[in-house]
Amino acid sequence: MFSNKQCFQQSFLKKLEMTYGKSFKESTIYDQYHTLGNMVREYISSDWIATNEKQRSSHTKQVYYLSIEFLLGKLLVQNLLNLGIREVVDEGLQELGIDLREIEEIEADAGLGNGGLGRLAACFLDSLASLNLPGHGCGIRYKHGLFDQKIVDGFQVELPEQWLRHGNAWEVRKADEAIEINFWGEVETLNEKGRLSFRHVHTETIMAVPYDIPIIGYETNIVNTLRLWNAEPSRFPIHKDVMEYKRETESVSEFLYPDDTHEDGKILRLKQQYFLVSASLQSIVASHRKTYSTLQNFHEKVAIHINDTHPVLAIPELMRILVDEEQMDWEEAWFITTNTVSYTNHTTLSEALEKWSIHLFKPLLPRIYMIIEEINERFCRQLWNRYPGDWRKIEQMAIIAHGIVKMAHLALVGSYRVNGVAKIHTEILKNREMKDFYEVYPEKFTNKTNGITHRRWLLKANPQLSRTITDVIGASWVHHPSELMKLKPYAFDAGFKEAVQKVKQERKKSLAQIIQRQTGIPIDDHSIFDVQVKRLHAYKRQLLNVLHIMYLYNRIKEEKSFEIHPRTFIFGAKASPGYYYAKKIIKLINSLAEKVNNDPQVSPFLKVIFLENYRVSLAEYVFPAADVSEQISTASKEASGTGNMKFMMNGALIIGTLDGANIEIFEKVGADNIFTFGLSAEEVLNYEQNGGYRSYDYYYYDKRIKKVLEQLINGFFPNSFDLFEPIYDSLLMQNDQYYVLRDFASYAGAQEKVNEAYLNQAGWLERSIINIAHSGYFSSDRTIREYADDIWGIHPLERGTVV
Ligand SMILES: *Cc1c(COP(=O)(O)O)cnc(C)c1O
Repeated sequence: MFSNKQCFQQSFLKKLEMTYGKSFKESTIYDQYHTLGNMVREYISSDWIATNEKQRSSHTKQVYYLSIEFLLGKLLVQNLLNLGIREVVDEGLQELGIDLREIEEIEADAGLGNGGLGRLAACFLDSLASLNLPGHGCGIRYKHGLFDQKIVDGFQVELPEQWLRHGNAWEVRKADEAIEINFWGEVETLNEKGRLSFRHVHTETIMAVPYDIPIIGYETNIVNTLRLWNAEPSRFPIHKDVMEYKRETESVSEFLYPDDTHEDGKILRLKQQYFLVSASLQSIVASHRKTYSTLQNFHEKVAIHINDTHPVLAIPELMRILVDEEQMDWEEAWFITTNTVSYTNHTTLSEALEKWSIHLFKPLLPRIYMIIEEINERFCRQLWNRYPGDWRKIEQMAIIAHGIVKMAHLALVGSYRVNGVAKIHTEILKNREMKDFYEVYPEKFTNKTNGITHRRWLLKANPQLSRTITDVIGASWVHHPSELMKLKPYAFDAGFKEAVQKVKQERKKSLAQIIQRQTGIPIDDHSIFDVQVKRLHAYKRQLLNVLHIMYLYNRIKEEKSFEIHPRTFIFGAKASPGYYYAKKIIKLINSLAEKVNNDPQVSPFLKVIFLENYRVSLAEYVFPAADVSEQISTASKEASGTGNMKFMMNGALIIGTLDGANIEIFEKVGADNIFTFGLSAEEVLNYEQNGGYRSYDYYYYDKRIKKVLEQLINGFFPNSFDLFEPIYDSLLMQNDQYYVLRDFASYAGAQEKVNEAYLNQAGWLERSIINIAHSGYFSSDRTIREYADDIWGIHPLERGTVV
């Protein structure tokens, strides 16, 4: 079907006619997209079946990656690329007068995630399949992914996202594998010959229907599965309004929660979490039982990984299945569970730690609550033996205390490995945030520095750079990204530098076109493209970037001798709809853009752009075009960051704090090839222990800061009234929790160095190439190998022959 152009064209036209009953001429671009998607799915179907068969028959251990978010982006072109048929398809379509890029345009992003955490899950799936590892994703098939962002008068407006509107070419509904999930009701205790048993009765039941998406590895015939669960009515209740029951049921998989750091305590969120976990575990257990007819070896054949604490109910749910359904002793069930589940922590921000009030938890999940109580009691007894009389410590470490269930504590007690996502993050967990648990379970803690799939973020997003790289070091880096290190000597090769520069220029031009189309603002593509794209959050400090741009504006206005290479500051960010402060910052960025871009004295040197609706598919245009990557979080707050890695892989230089994975990037590329500034994590944490710092001093003694802060409230931004007063207040009255003013001078200094460095293009390109060379380490292939070897104990499948 894809062996050559003609073959492809014939199959394509025939399939199009058969599916839609239309001639090619009558077909729409949506028909063409779905036809192509269906052809790919048919093409891989035997490999998909064979992979499943191979996994069953070889009795290989498998991992299931449970995540409340999967930020996949578009799938068509990546799938074609991984299958090695992109060119055949592209050329075949061209002859028919169809542009593959236009088809890609109309494919909706699968945006079932907020940011880094969800994108990590997507990168991991790509690496698992590409490394022939038996590993699958389990998630929720949200009807609406992360909201679409519109900017209206500079304000963010949220619209429901509708990725399923035109259907989804990749999913396969498996109605016969649907699973019942039980909520509410009561628990009946029965005494059967001295053994207590428990029955969850009078429940409200929701049906979880799986939709399977094939995860196609790169140049392999391994096809793994992402199973997304859809919530549907089960048995319609007799005594309840039927429509209301239907609405209530379907609401469980209706929306993705648009927040990955705050926990807002909505009962629906808890329902979603249990829905995901219960459906996944019941289906994993059923498939295990089919192969092995026992659950005693469950932990030897299955690893379950929980991406942050959202799926932590996997622990009590597995206990429920083993104890209540399988009639296992508590001890044996606990042994199996705590040798099956492993857990990744993603943040040390205390507001992000998931906590549930018992009032809310217990009625919704009565049996699960009982099991957590039992886990807690046994854990506290163990603590009592270890720390006799130390009530304070036991109270602090307990899973349930003061009417609250602490999900991170449950994860720490019930899993066999806990990992942080960058070296510094893991150290902060061990020595500060989770110090007490580290003392009890030192063997559980391990680091797994995040990674990104180079197949999407370089090979797919930047084919021009990929070709340029392959021209000098050959193509084997695609299978072995650490071989990008072979580029290092070429950092001093004039010909290669020129080629890299040419690619960057071309990509800047095409981003400039996108910006011009979206905003009408003309961009000088020889200006420095300085980019900060990521979720809007106070700790990520978009505000520091903004204040510095205001300072540059003031310098251009005031200092006759001031010279600066033209710079285009590009922002992209969604703010959680309920996050008032973050939305203010978005408005501030847009007000600044208005001011700067329309000032004839300033705009030849500075431009400020806010890219609407930042998402994976837009990111694929942004990273290849960036010169400077803004990674300026308050040190100790960004667990890892992965945007930093995507920029580096595309040759942008970081201006950043020594935070998260920036530190490891710094260690690899060396101090000459990254611009660092600001407080260290140690310094921030010490400040915090001593009640912060005096932001007012930095306002009072630094005239630059004083001026820009005044401009927030003195009418500098026309029609802003008192719009930005809360920002001003947060920096002065509320003592600047994220050390923006504290780091301002240091940041401005680092920005001057960026400007100077860019003036020497040869030197800049040298640094850029060194960054690309070292980026191979940050491929998620390296990360996934580490998880596979040190945590999951899984091994690659033989590629074998196609059935
Ligand atoms: C990589 C990525 C992120 C994470 O970016 P950070 O800078 O690490 O916060 C968020 N959103 C999208 C769309 C991404 O591709």
